[in-house]
Amino acid sequence: MPSNTGRRPFLAAVGGIALAGAGIAATSERANAAQADEKVTLLEGTEYETTGYVQTADADGPTVLVVGGLHGNEVAGYEAAANVSDMELERGRLVTVPRANATAIESGTRIGADGTDLNRQFPTDEEPSTELARALWGVVEEYEPDVVIDLHESQELYEGDVEDGVGQAIFHSRDVRAEEEAQEAAETLNEDYVDDSTYDFTVAPFSLPPSETPNMFVHKAARDTDATAFLAETVSDGPELSTRIHWHARVVRSLVWEELLTPGEGDPEDPDDGGDAPEEENEIPVARIETDPENAEETVFSKGETVNLDASASEDPDGEIVTYEWDVNGTNEFEEGDETAEVTLSFCGELPVALRVTDDEGATATEELVLSTV
Ligand SMILES: [Zn+2]
Repeated sequence: MPSNTGRRPFLAAVGGIALAGAGIAATSERANAAQADEKVTLLEGTEYETTGYVQTADADGPTVLVVGGLHGNEVAGYEAAANVSDMELERGRLVTVPRANATAIESGTRIGADGTDLNRQFPTDEEPSTELARALWGVVEEYEPDVVIDLHESQELYEGDVEDGVGQAIFHSRDVRAEEEAQEAAETLNEDYVDDSTYDFTVAPFSLPPSETPNMFVHKAARDTDATAFLAETVSDGPELSTRIHWHARVVRSLVWEELLTPGEGDPEDPDDGGDAPEEENEIPVARIETDPENAEETVFSKGETVNLDASASEDPDGEIVTYEWDVNGTNEFEEGDETAEVTLSFCGELPVALRVTDDEGATATEELVLSTV
């Protein structure tokens, strides 16, 4: 199997993108001094349409692809993928497709409108089997990620039989670097973020034929490209959703720490050659929205009603929250505000509202909920 010496050379920052052949359209979002942002649309105009996000740091570095929502009922996976999509990079490029299987997510089911399990449509050395699978694979072909991370959830804990459950675990491609990174991520998680050791993350290499689950996305990524690939699973029966989202986001940050979050001076493989010394890591904050009335997400409101939003339960494990930003108009734009916000439901339909908190070291976290009005 490929070792890290076989990894693709780091890609330069991307310029223009022509993705028409893959069913992908790219639009430039906005740019700031540190990071260029771009959106890509997969299968535009179809019921499978979904958005990918591309963040490119000023400094060159590896490309990482994070996907979530291949299974539509694995909520923490796609929420966490969305949460990490705008994280601040030291170098390199982060591509995220948080809601890979939009129709499955919409129905809250494992399988989407095409009736197939999206994570079984990626045969090695062959075209992916469905249109949606081909569109997702088109992202891999376009951006040629050095690292691929796929976020899932399992109903039950792994107890020696994957049929019953594979949570909480980080599975990795069969190379030394992937194993080291997965071990490190699991150790960090278990030490600092998992209170109940029942939920400690385990680490295992991808299984091999014939015992493997066939045609999985990460298997193809690891075999058809020389990407280092990971599949992370949290367990959905038990821990709260916000905790699981936080765990997934931590797994991602840990796995991409060296690739994207460490300034790249000298040889990234050589710890003595600058840029790679492990530093005191800032812990990302947790964004939490509490509503008055409670359970606003499960409530159907009448036009004209007001919902109060309270972010004071948000926290930063190693510092403090310094900024609260809200998007309460469904515009996808955050505006700086206070710990609380108020939203008046002035039209019928669904209104997504979002909170973004920033800690004293500049790390952000977001939380979103959807309010329904008839
Ligand atoms: Zn899954």
